Amino acid sequence: MTTNPRLKEYHHAWYLEHQDKVRACSRARYLRVRVLKVLPQNMQCPTCGLTFSPKHLLQIYCLPRCRAKAYTLRYPVRRRAQASGWQKRNKSKTNAITNLRRARLKGATIGQIDYEAILQRDKQTCGICRKRIKVGALSFDHILPLAHGGTHSNNNLRPTHILCNRQRNRYGQAQLRMV
Ligand SMILES: [Zn+2]
Ligand SMILES: [Zn+2]
Repeated sequence: MTTNPRLKEYHHAWYLEHQDKVRACSRARYLRVRVLKVLPQNMQCPTCGLTFSPKHLLQIYCLPRCRAKAYTLRYPVRRRAQASGWQKRNKSKTNAITNLRRARLKGATIGQIDYEAILQRDKQTCGICRKRIKVGALSFDHILPLAHGGTHSNNNLRPTHILCNRQRNRYGQAQLRMV
């Protein structure tokens, strides 16, 4: 669990002191899970407090979502590090999620979105200056701005240069970064 040697020592000391209790606990769990194979009927989810019937013997939380939330609460630093690592490895996915959240917040209609398909449709040329876009300068733009009732969907999106987009939207909404 931990790599901290002092913490490890502390855990071990605690274990030696409470050996009987630990053994009794694991024996009860072993009996319940491996021997009796009894599925408890009404368990309470430690995260959301809902009563549920588990589908397998090791289930503790009602939904994977609740298990993830418990993990976040228990190991906040580790969880944050994992999340930011994923975001660094999946920049375009992260941007797509951010763009979707912003569109939702603005109350826009959400449609089918496939950024790769939009790029292929427009042959990777900028919708504003009509020149080719290099990967590092790519962003996406709502043709009809969300603020004016435009939808967040393939039909209303076009690839643009970051700079062209920024100039167009200097007085308008934020650009959709995809780099
Ligand atoms: Zn729950
Ligand atoms: Zn351009």
